Amino acid sequence: MTMKLRKVAIVGTGLVGSSCAFSLINQCVCEEILMIDINEERAKGEAWDITHAVEYMPYKTKVYSAKYEECKDVDAIIITAGAPPKLGQTRLDTLGISAKICRSIVEPIMESGFNGFFILVSNPVDIIAYHVWKLSGLPKNKIIGTGTSVDSARLKTILSEKLEGIDTKSIQAFSMGEHGDSQMVPWSHISVAGEPFLKMIDKNDKLRNINLDEIVTKTAKVGWEIYERKGTTYYGIAAAAIGIIKSIFHDEKRIIPVSAMLNGEYGEENIYTGVPCIIGKNGVEKVIEIEMTEDELVRFKRSNSVLREYMSTIGY
Ligand code: NAD
Repeated sequence: MTMKLRKVAIVGTGLVGSSCAFSLINQCVCEEILMIDINEERAKGEAWDITHAVEYMPYKTKVYSAKYEECKDVDAIIITAGAPPKLGQTRLDTLGISAKICRSIVEPIMESGFNGFFILVSNPVDIIAYHVWKLSGLPKNKIIGTGTSVDSARLKTILSEKLEGIDTKSIQAFSMGEHGDSQMVPWSHISVAGEPFLKMIDKNDKLRNINLDEIVTKTAKVGWEIYERKGTTYYGIAAAAIGIIKSIFHDEKRIIPVSAMLNGEYGEENIYTGVPCIIGKNGVEKVIEIEMTEDELVRFKRSNSVLREYMSTIGY
């Protein structure tokens, strides 16, 4: 019997892609990482640099630059290739170029015989996930956008600050819809130690006047605040992408807010959008359909209509 080595390919070895590779070797997620980029020298440079870090990691990972033909037996491919938004652009403004780049990537990958999971990071990630689902012909459970996974981490950080430092992992909170300005938070489902957050703030003098809309706006905008300071973001999103892969490889069945295809859930069809999902060995094993209030459902659908408007600009 030959042991199956777990392999992850990263397409786009820029700031996000190389951070994903670093996060993979840190967390002992796979045995091999294939680094692929249109700029082959960049992919080589990143692969060498990360290889030199492996010596001081707890586990051996082989990291090398590769080509699409080598993707046949890869278990998961993270796509981070793209053109990050320039100052003044939104993520949605990068759709045309990202869609073209993804086509040039997915076609040769599928020709290689690849049959694993795609984890999409390139923005606008919800629409790119849909595009890759269409281009690849793979089942919807195998195509996962990072969606609002990183926004949810940002939301929890903001709530933790409001709650005098309670660990983010002890807060049940997530945002949904577009990974972008129109995302929403289903406040009726946010809780701490099982206690609904809305009830908590009612009972607490310090929290009673908390402005929930402000928190949602801050959650959506904090990425831009980082962008203004360092030109981009990469550690948070890389950790989120690797969190999704770990949940698949270890069949954790962790609930993560990702961009997944809806087929009737929340009364929505044929759209990739941010929703809490059970992520296990089959990828998206279940879209969790929480019972939203009327107002929450309106906000969620409004966010989806923003995505649909942009989907139509590339023929969907
Ligand atoms: P970057 O410019 O540092 O890296 C992009 C890489 O893609 C470059 O190395 C480039 O050579 C490569 N590339 C471009 N066209 C390619 C092609 N046709 N084939 C293969 N490789 C190609 O950018 P970055 O900061 O790493 O961001 C990458 C993408 O990730 C952007 O779309 C950005 O908006 C997105 N992003 C998403 C999130 C999220 O939460 N989903 C967060 C941060 C960044």
